[in-house]
Amino acid sequence: MISEQQAEMAIRSFRAALNEIVSDAKQPEGRNACILNLTRNDNEELFVYAYSSAKGLSKTELQKLAERGFPIVEDVPEQLRKYACGGMGQYHTEPRLINYFNARPGALENMKTALLISEIDCCKTCMKYTVDLFVKANPLMEVYTDEYGKNPGRNQLPRFAFQGPAPYQMDTSNF
Ligand SMILES: [Zn+2]
Repeated sequence: MISEQQAEMAIRSFRAALNEIVSDAKQPEGRNACILNLTRNDNEELFVYAYSSAKGLSKTELQKLAERGFPIVEDVPEQLRKYACGGMGQYHTEPRLINYFNARPGALENMKTALLISEIDCCKTCMKYTVDLFVKANPLMEVYTDEYGKNPGRNQLPRFAFQGPAPYQMDTSNF
């Protein structure tokens, strides 16, 4: 798993690329940037990137982001979307990233850790319907979140501080 400093650098670099490449008219600062860092048992680091309004990006914008090293994950087919965010379906960045790997058979079997790095804090329903369920479904994996408290509506910039492991809730009523 990457360090706190590396996580901060990764999300800052991703944000810089989004603001440079995505048209100002789409107000990219108002949309969340989120990264999933998975670490395999052989210590290989994997990274996938999500932007909350990915559907609004043009082909050229997507291509430029990929060229800069930030390929945006696509939505998995609806029937493969195991994780959701309450009424938001899987349209928040966190379930989109997790569904992306979860839909690939065997992709999560050799993972040691998962770190979700998000500018805007994971919302309560993402924690309940995505992060907590993912933690329970993958007992051999350590799952962490770095949530930086950005609030575009209040012009609150991300605050880069270590948040600790994802809270684990014993409530299993969602299974
Ligand atoms: Zn959410």
